[in-house]
Amino acid sequence: MMAGRQDGKTAVEDNELVTITLSRDKRQAAVEVGSALGDARVVALTSHVNPDGDGIGSEIALVHILRALGKEPSIANPTPTPGRFEFLFRDLPGIDRSTEAVKAIRRADLIVVLDIADTGRLGHLGPAVVERGVPVICVDHHASPGTLPPGPRYVDPRAAATGELVYELAVANEWPLLVPTARALYVALLTDTGGFRFSNTHPRTLRIAADLLETGIDPESIYLDVYANAPEGRPRLLAETLETLVVEPELGLAWVTVPPGAMERHGLTPDDLEGVVEFPRAIAGVRMAILFRELSQGRVKVSLRSVGDVDVARFAHALGGGGHAKAAGVAVPGTLAQVQTQILRAAREYLAGNGRPQ
Ligand code: AMP
Ligand code: MN
Ligand code: MN
Repeated sequence: MMAGRQDGKTAVEDNELVTITLSRDKRQAAVEVGSALGDARVVALTSHVNPDGDGIGSEIALVHILRALGKEPSIANPTPTPGRFEFLFRDLPGIDRSTEAVKAIRRADLIVVLDIADTGRLGHLGPAVVERGVPVICVDHHASPGTLPPGPRYVDPRAAATGELVYELAVANEWPLLVPTARALYVALLTDTGGFRFSNTHPRTLRIAADLLETGIDPESIYLDVYANAPEGRPRLLAETLETLVVEPELGLAWVTVPPGAMERHGLTPDDLEGVVEFPRAIAGVRMAILFRELSQGRVKVSLRSVGDVDVARFAHALGGGGHAKAAGVAVPGTLAQVQTQILRAAREYLAGNGRPQ
Protein backbone atom coordinates (compact mmCIF):
# COMPACT_ATOMS: atom_id res chain seq x y z
CA MET A 1 0.00 0.00 0.00
CA MET A 2 0.98 3.57 -0.46
CA ALA A 3 1.67 5.52 2.67
CA GLY A 4 1.60 9.29 3.04
CA ARG A 5 4.93 10.84 4.01
CA GLN A 6 5.66 14.05 5.80
CA ASP A 7 7.49 15.61 2.85
CA GLY A 8 4.30 15.37 0.77
CA LYS A 9 5.56 12.50 -1.34
CA THR A 10 4.09 9.06 -1.22
CA ALA A 11 5.79 5.72 -1.08
CA VAL A 12 4.50 2.96 -3.32
CA GLU A 13 5.10 -0.48 -1.88
CA ASP A 14 7.72 0.54 0.67
CA ASN A 15 10.68 2.33 -0.88
CA GLU A 16 9.69 3.11 -4.45
CA LEU A 17 8.97 6.80 -4.67
CA VAL A 18 6.04 8.53 -6.23
CA THR A 19 7.66 11.67 -7.61
CA ILE A 20 4.59 13.80 -8.24
CA THR A 21 2.76 16.05 -5.84
CA LEU A 22 -0.88 17.17 -6.00
CA SER A 23 -2.41 20.58 -5.38
CA ARG A 24 -4.84 20.83 -2.51
CA ASP A 25 -7.81 21.24 -4.90
CA LYS A 26 -6.86 18.18 -6.87
CA ARG A 27 -6.33 16.15 -3.74
CA GLN A 28 -9.77 17.12 -2.51
CA ALA A 29 -11.44 16.29 -5.84
CA ALA A 30 -9.56 12.97 -5.89
CA VAL A 31 -10.71 12.09 -2.38
CA GLU A 32 -14.33 12.84 -3.39
CA VAL A 33 -14.00 10.40 -6.29
CA GLY A 34 -12.44 7.89 -3.90
CA SER A 35 -15.23 8.17 -1.37
CA ALA A 36 -17.94 7.75 -4.06
CA LEU A 37 -16.15 4.58 -5.18
CA GLY A 38 -15.87 3.47 -1.56
CA ASP A 39 -19.65 3.69 -1.18
CA ALA A 40 -20.35 1.65 -4.31
CA ARG A 41 -20.33 -2.09 -4.96
CA VAL A 42 -21.17 -2.68 -8.63
CA VAL A 43 -19.20 -0.22 -10.77
CA ALA A 44 -19.52 0.12 -14.56
CA LEU A 45 -16.55 1.71 -16.33
CA THR A 46 -17.04 3.22 -19.76
CA SER A 47 -15.32 5.40 -22.35
CA HIS A 48 -15.94 6.97 -25.76
CA VAL A 49 -16.94 5.17 -28.96
CA ASN A 50 -13.95 3.46 -30.58
CA PRO A 51 -12.13 3.37 -27.24
CA ASP A 52 -8.40 4.00 -27.39
CA GLY A 53 -5.39 3.04 -25.30
CA ASP A 54 -6.03 5.87 -22.87
CA GLY A 55 -9.68 4.95 -22.25
CA ILE A 56 -9.02 1.22 -22.06
CA GLY A 57 -5.80 1.55 -20.07
CA SER A 58 -7.60 3.78 -17.55
CA GLU A 59 -10.47 1.29 -17.31
CA ILE A 60 -8.18 -1.70 -16.78
CA ALA A 61 -6.20 0.16 -14.12
CA LEU A 62 -9.41 0.97 -12.26
CA VAL A 63 -10.61 -2.63 -12.58
CA HIS A 64 -7.49 -3.84 -10.76
CA ILE A 65 -7.78 -1.10 -8.15
CA LEU A 66 -11.50 -1.65 -7.55
CA ARG A 67 -11.07 -5.41 -7.27
CA ALA A 68 -8.35 -4.89 -4.69
CA LEU A 69 -10.85 -2.71 -2.80
CA GLY A 70 -13.41 -5.53 -2.87
CA LYS A 71 -15.67 -3.96 -5.51
CA GLU A 72 -17.35 -5.57 -8.50
CA PRO A 73 -16.18 -3.60 -11.57
CA SER A 74 -16.94 -4.28 -15.22
CA ILE A 75 -16.04 -2.59 -18.49
CA ALA A 76 -18.99 -1.50 -20.63
CA ASN A 77 -17.88 0.39 -23.72
CA PRO A 78 -20.17 1.51 -26.55
CA THR A 79 -18.02 -0.23 -29.21
CA PRO A 80 -15.69 -3.26 -29.03
CA THR A 81 -12.17 -3.33 -27.66
CA PRO A 82 -9.51 -3.11 -30.40
CA GLY A 83 -7.41 -6.27 -30.70
CA ARG A 84 -4.18 -4.45 -29.87
CA PHE A 85 -5.36 -3.96 -26.26
CA GLU A 86 -6.52 -7.52 -25.66
CA PHE A 87 -3.27 -8.31 -23.83
CA LEU A 88 -4.48 -6.07 -21.00
CA PHE A 89 -7.50 -8.35 -20.50
CA ARG A 90 -5.53 -11.61 -20.33
CA ASP A 91 -5.76 -11.95 -16.56
CA LEU A 92 -9.33 -10.58 -16.41
CA PRO A 93 -11.69 -13.08 -18.06
CA GLY A 94 -15.28 -11.84 -18.35
CA ILE A 95 -14.46 -8.25 -17.36
CA ASP A 96 -15.23 -6.79 -20.81
CA ARG A 97 -19.02 -6.63 -21.01
CA SER A 98 -19.10 -4.22 -23.95
CA THR A 99 -21.25 -6.59 -26.04
CA GLU A 100 -23.96 -6.28 -23.35
CA ALA A 101 -22.98 -2.85 -22.15
CA VAL A 102 -26.50 -1.51 -21.57
CA LYS A 103 -27.17 -4.40 -19.20
CA ALA A 104 -23.95 -3.71 -17.31
CA ILE A 105 -24.85 -0.01 -17.02
CA ARG A 106 -28.36 -0.87 -15.74
CA ARG A 107 -26.88 -3.08 -13.00
CA ALA A 108 -24.35 -0.56 -11.78
CA ASP A 109 -24.77 1.48 -8.64
CA LEU A 110 -22.01 3.82 -9.82
CA ILE A 111 -20.80 4.67 -13.34
CA VAL A 112 -17.32 5.93 -14.16
CA VAL A 113 -16.88 7.69 -17.51
CA LEU A 114 -13.26 7.92 -18.63
CA ASP A 115 -11.62 10.07 -21.32
CA ILE A 116 -14.78 12.03 -22.29
CA ALA A 117 -17.21 14.36 -20.60
CA ASP A 118 -19.97 14.35 -23.22
CA THR A 119 -22.94 12.02 -23.20
CA GLY A 120 -23.01 12.28 -27.01
CA ARG A 121 -19.66 10.48 -27.38
CA LEU A 122 -21.02 7.46 -25.46
CA GLY A 123 -22.89 6.31 -28.58
CA HIS A 124 -25.91 4.13 -27.79
CA LEU A 125 -24.91 4.03 -24.10
CA GLY A 126 -25.66 7.74 -23.62
CA PRO A 127 -29.38 7.26 -22.88
CA ALA A 128 -28.70 4.23 -20.63
CA VAL A 129 -26.20 6.22 -18.54
CA VAL A 130 -28.64 9.12 -18.16
CA GLU A 131 -31.66 6.89 -17.39
CA ARG A 132 -29.81 4.81 -14.79
CA GLY A 133 -29.99 7.74 -12.40
CA VAL A 134 -26.91 6.80 -10.31
CA PRO A 135 -23.93 9.12 -9.72
CA VAL A 136 -21.59 9.40 -12.70
CA ILE A 137 -17.92 9.97 -11.94
CA CYS A 138 -16.04 11.63 -14.78
CA VAL A 139 -12.26 11.40 -15.14
CA ASP A 140 -11.12 13.24 -18.25
CA HIS A 141 -8.50 15.48 -19.82
CA HIS A 142 -10.61 17.23 -22.48
CA ALA A 143 -11.47 20.90 -22.22
CA SER A 144 -15.21 20.41 -22.79
CA PRO A 145 -17.38 21.28 -19.77
CA GLY A 146 -19.34 18.10 -20.46
CA THR A 147 -22.95 17.02 -20.50
CA LEU A 148 -22.86 13.98 -18.21
CA PRO A 149 -25.29 13.42 -15.31
CA PRO A 150 -24.05 14.74 -11.94
CA GLY A 151 -21.35 13.09 -9.86
CA PRO A 152 -17.76 13.69 -8.72
CA ARG A 153 -15.50 15.19 -11.40
CA TYR A 154 -11.75 14.77 -11.81
CA VAL A 155 -11.00 16.73 -14.97
CA ASP A 156 -7.74 18.42 -15.97
CA PRO A 157 -7.03 19.45 -19.57
CA ARG A 158 -3.34 19.86 -18.70
CA ALA A 159 -2.99 16.11 -18.26
CA ALA A 160 -1.52 14.28 -21.25
CA ALA A 161 -3.86 11.35 -20.73
CA THR A 162 -6.77 10.28 -18.58
CA GLY A 163 -4.38 7.59 -17.32
CA GLU A 164 -2.31 10.35 -15.72
CA LEU A 165 -5.41 11.39 -13.76
CA VAL A 166 -6.16 7.81 -12.70
CA TYR A 167 -2.60 7.66 -11.40
CA GLU A 168 -3.21 10.85 -9.40
CA LEU A 169 -6.41 9.35 -7.99
CA ALA A 170 -4.40 6.33 -6.88
CA VAL A 171 -1.78 8.51 -5.20
CA ALA A 172 -4.32 10.74 -3.43
CA ASN A 173 -6.44 7.83 -2.22
CA GLU A 174 -3.46 5.62 -1.35
CA TRP A 175 -4.73 2.87 -3.60
CA PRO A 176 -2.33 0.00 -4.31
CA LEU A 177 -0.34 0.36 -7.52
CA LEU A 178 0.34 -3.19 -8.63
CA VAL A 179 2.13 -4.33 -11.77
CA PRO A 180 -1.01 -4.87 -13.95
CA THR A 181 -2.30 -1.44 -12.91
CA ALA A 182 1.01 0.19 -13.81
CA ARG A 183 1.09 -1.61 -17.17
CA ALA A 184 -2.40 -0.39 -18.08
CA LEU A 185 -1.61 3.20 -17.09
CA TYR A 186 1.63 3.08 -19.06
CA VAL A 187 -0.40 2.08 -22.14
CA ALA A 188 -2.67 5.09 -21.53
CA LEU A 189 0.28 7.49 -21.38
CA LEU A 190 2.19 5.85 -24.24
CA THR A 191 -0.72 5.95 -26.69
CA ASP A 192 -2.10 9.42 -25.92
CA THR A 193 1.35 11.01 -26.24
CA GLY A 194 2.12 9.19 -29.51
CA GLY A 195 4.93 7.30 -27.80
CA PHE A 196 5.98 10.29 -25.64
CA ARG A 197 6.46 12.51 -28.71
CA PHE A 198 3.51 14.95 -28.76
CA SER A 199 3.40 18.38 -27.11
CA ASN A 200 1.39 16.94 -24.22
CA THR A 201 4.50 15.04 -23.06
CA HIS A 202 5.11 17.22 -20.01
CA PRO A 203 7.80 16.66 -17.39
CA ARG A 204 5.01 15.43 -15.12
CA THR A 205 3.94 12.88 -17.75
CA LEU A 206 7.43 11.42 -17.85
CA ARG A 207 7.68 11.47 -14.05
CA ILE A 208 4.50 9.43 -13.86
CA ALA A 209 5.76 7.10 -16.60
CA ALA A 210 8.97 6.71 -14.58
CA ASP A 211 6.99 5.89 -11.44
CA LEU A 212 5.09 3.27 -13.41
CA LEU A 213 8.32 1.74 -14.72
CA GLU A 214 9.55 1.53 -11.12
CA THR A 215 7.03 -1.27 -10.58
CA GLY A 216 9.08 -3.41 -12.98
CA ILE A 217 6.87 -3.32 -16.09
CA ASP A 218 8.70 -3.90 -19.38
CA PRO A 219 8.36 -1.00 -21.86
CA GLU A 220 9.51 -3.05 -24.83
CA SER A 221 7.00 -5.83 -24.35
CA ILE A 222 4.25 -3.22 -23.96
CA TYR A 223 5.42 -1.49 -27.15
CA LEU A 224 5.37 -4.83 -29.00
CA ASP A 225 1.86 -5.66 -27.78
CA VAL A 226 0.42 -2.26 -28.68
CA TYR A 227 2.23 -1.38 -31.91
CA ALA A 228 3.94 -4.47 -33.31
CA ASN A 229 1.14 -7.02 -33.32
CA ALA A 230 -0.75 -5.76 -36.38
CA PRO A 231 -2.90 -7.75 -38.77
CA GLU A 232 -1.41 -7.80 -42.28
CA GLY A 233 -4.26 -5.60 -43.51
CA ARG A 234 -3.10 -2.67 -41.39
CA PRO A 235 -0.04 -1.74 -43.45
CA ARG A 236 -2.02 -2.53 -46.63
CA LEU A 237 -4.75 -0.09 -45.61
CA LEU A 238 -2.06 2.44 -44.70
CA ALA A 239 -0.59 2.11 -48.21
CA GLU A 240 -3.98 2.61 -49.87
CA THR A 241 -4.82 5.58 -47.68
CA LEU A 242 -1.46 7.32 -48.19
CA GLU A 243 -1.98 6.99 -51.98
CA THR A 244 -4.78 9.56 -51.62
CA LEU A 245 -2.52 12.27 -50.14
CA VAL A 246 -3.15 15.83 -51.30
CA VAL A 247 -0.96 18.73 -50.15
CA GLU A 248 -1.68 22.45 -50.46
CA PRO A 249 1.67 23.94 -49.46
CA GLU A 250 0.56 27.60 -49.68
CA LEU A 251 -1.66 27.23 -46.63
CA GLY A 252 0.06 24.27 -45.03
CA LEU A 253 -2.91 21.95 -45.50
CA ALA A 254 -2.60 18.20 -46.23
CA TRP A 255 -5.17 15.44 -46.18
CA VAL A 256 -5.69 11.75 -46.81
CA THR A 257 -8.86 9.74 -47.31
CA VAL A 258 -9.61 6.16 -46.40
CA PRO A 259 -10.83 4.63 -49.68
CA PRO A 260 -14.53 3.70 -49.22
CA GLY A 261 -14.87 0.00 -48.41
CA ALA A 262 -11.12 -0.50 -47.79
CA MET A 263 -11.46 -1.12 -44.05
CA GLU A 264 -14.10 -3.80 -44.60
CA ARG A 265 -12.06 -5.36 -47.43
CA HIS A 266 -9.09 -5.75 -45.10
CA GLY A 267 -11.25 -6.78 -42.14
CA LEU A 268 -10.08 -3.84 -40.03
CA THR A 269 -11.55 -1.51 -37.41
CA PRO A 270 -11.09 2.25 -36.86
CA ASP A 271 -8.33 1.50 -34.37
CA ASP A 272 -6.19 0.23 -37.25
CA LEU A 273 -6.07 3.82 -38.54
CA GLU A 274 -4.33 5.03 -35.39
CA GLY A 275 -1.37 7.19 -36.41
CA VAL A 276 -2.21 7.41 -40.14
CA VAL A 277 -2.96 11.13 -39.90
CA GLU A 278 0.58 11.63 -38.59
CA PHE A 279 1.89 11.07 -42.13
CA PRO A 280 0.30 14.16 -43.73
CA ARG A 281 1.07 16.04 -40.51
CA ALA A 282 4.76 15.14 -40.82
CA ILE A 283 5.24 16.93 -44.18
CA ALA A 284 7.44 20.02 -43.95
CA GLY A 285 5.32 23.18 -43.83
CA VAL A 286 2.05 21.44 -42.97
CA ARG A 287 0.06 23.21 -40.25
CA MET A 288 -3.15 21.23 -40.44
CA ALA A 289 -3.56 17.58 -41.42
CA ILE A 290 -6.87 15.84 -42.00
CA LEU A 291 -7.97 12.22 -42.29
CA PHE A 292 -11.40 11.59 -43.85
CA ARG A 293 -13.24 8.32 -43.28
CA GLU A 294 -16.75 7.39 -44.35
CA LEU A 295 -18.94 6.23 -41.45
CA SER A 296 -22.24 4.40 -41.71
CA GLN A 297 -25.46 6.45 -41.50
CA GLY A 298 -24.34 9.08 -44.02
CA ARG A 299 -21.64 10.66 -41.91
CA VAL A 300 -17.93 11.22 -42.36
CA LYS A 301 -15.34 11.12 -39.58
CA VAL A 302 -12.88 13.98 -39.80
CA SER A 303 -9.67 13.59 -37.78
CA LEU A 304 -7.70 16.79 -37.36
CA ARG A 305 -4.10 17.34 -36.33
CA SER A 306 -2.11 20.55 -36.21
CA VAL A 307 1.43 21.81 -35.96
CA GLY A 308 2.54 24.98 -34.14
CA ASP A 309 -0.15 27.31 -32.88
CA VAL A 310 -3.05 26.20 -35.10
CA ASP A 311 -5.89 25.18 -32.76
CA VAL A 312 -7.90 22.33 -34.28
CA ALA A 313 -10.07 21.88 -31.16
CA ARG A 314 -11.59 25.28 -31.86
CA PHE A 315 -12.10 24.34 -35.52
CA ALA A 316 -13.75 21.02 -34.54
CA HIS A 317 -15.90 22.66 -31.88
CA ALA A 318 -17.45 25.03 -34.39
CA LEU A 319 -18.60 21.94 -36.32
CA GLY A 320 -19.98 20.09 -33.30
CA GLY A 321 -16.87 18.02 -32.50
CA GLY A 322 -14.10 18.43 -29.96
CA GLY A 323 -10.68 17.36 -28.79
CA HIS A 324 -7.41 19.07 -27.98
CA ALA A 325 -5.59 22.01 -29.62
CA LYS A 326 -3.37 19.69 -31.66
CA ALA A 327 -5.63 16.63 -32.03
CA ALA A 328 -9.36 16.91 -32.55
CA GLY A 329 -12.18 15.27 -34.43
CA VAL A 330 -15.77 15.56 -35.57
CA ALA A 331 -18.34 13.41 -37.36
CA VAL A 332 -20.02 15.46 -40.09
CA PRO A 333 -23.25 14.46 -41.84
CA GLY A 334 -23.11 14.13 -45.64
CA THR A 335 -21.44 12.11 -48.35
CA LEU A 336 -17.66 11.82 -48.46
CA ALA A 337 -17.48 14.30 -51.36
CA GLN A 338 -19.80 16.81 -49.68
CA VAL A 339 -18.00 16.69 -46.36
CA GLN A 340 -14.58 16.99 -47.98
CA THR A 341 -15.68 20.06 -49.92
CA GLN A 342 -17.21 21.64 -46.80
CA ILE A 343 -14.33 20.86 -44.44
CA LEU A 344 -11.54 21.74 -46.86
CA ARG A 345 -13.18 25.09 -47.61
CA ALA A 346 -13.51 25.79 -43.88
CA ALA A 347 -9.93 24.64 -43.23
CA ARG A 348 -8.52 26.93 -45.93
CA GLU A 349 -10.38 29.86 -44.43
CA TYR A 350 -9.27 28.93 -40.95
CA LEU A 351 -5.62 28.67 -41.95
CA ALA A 352 -5.77 31.87 -44.00
CA GLY A 353 -6.94 33.59 -40.79
CA ASN A 354 -4.01 31.86 -39.04
CA GLY A 355 -6.13 29.28 -37.21
CA ARG A 356 -5.54 30.73 -33.79
CA PRO A 357 -8.17 31.51 -31.17
CA GLN A 358 -9.07 35.20 -31.48
P1 AMP B 1 -9.18 11.08 -33.35
O1 AMP B 1 -8.98 11.91 -34.55
O2 AMP B 1 -10.38 10.21 -33.44
O3 AMP B 1 -7.94 10.34 -32.97
O4 AMP B 1 -9.51 12.06 -32.16
C1 AMP B 1 -8.62 13.06 -31.76
C2 AMP B 1 -9.18 13.81 -30.58
O5 AMP B 1 -10.41 14.44 -30.96
C3 AMP B 1 -9.53 12.94 -29.40
O6 AMP B 1 -9.05 13.61 -28.25
C4 AMP B 1 -11.01 12.84 -29.37
O7 AMP B 1 -11.48 12.89 -28.07
C5 AMP B 1 -11.49 14.04 -30.13
N1 AMP B 1 -12.62 13.69 -31.00
C6 AMP B 1 -12.60 12.84 -32.03
N2 AMP B 1 -13.80 12.71 -32.62
C7 AMP B 1 -14.63 13.53 -31.91
C8 AMP B 1 -16.04 13.84 -32.00
N3 AMP B 1 -16.83 13.30 -32.93
N4 AMP B 1 -16.53 14.69 -31.09
C9 AMP B 1 -15.75 15.25 -30.14
N5 AMP B 1 -14.43 14.99 -30.01
C10 AMP B 1 -13.87 14.15 -30.87
MN1 MN C 1 -9.48 9.07 -26.15
MN1 MN D 1 -7.24 10.59 -23.77
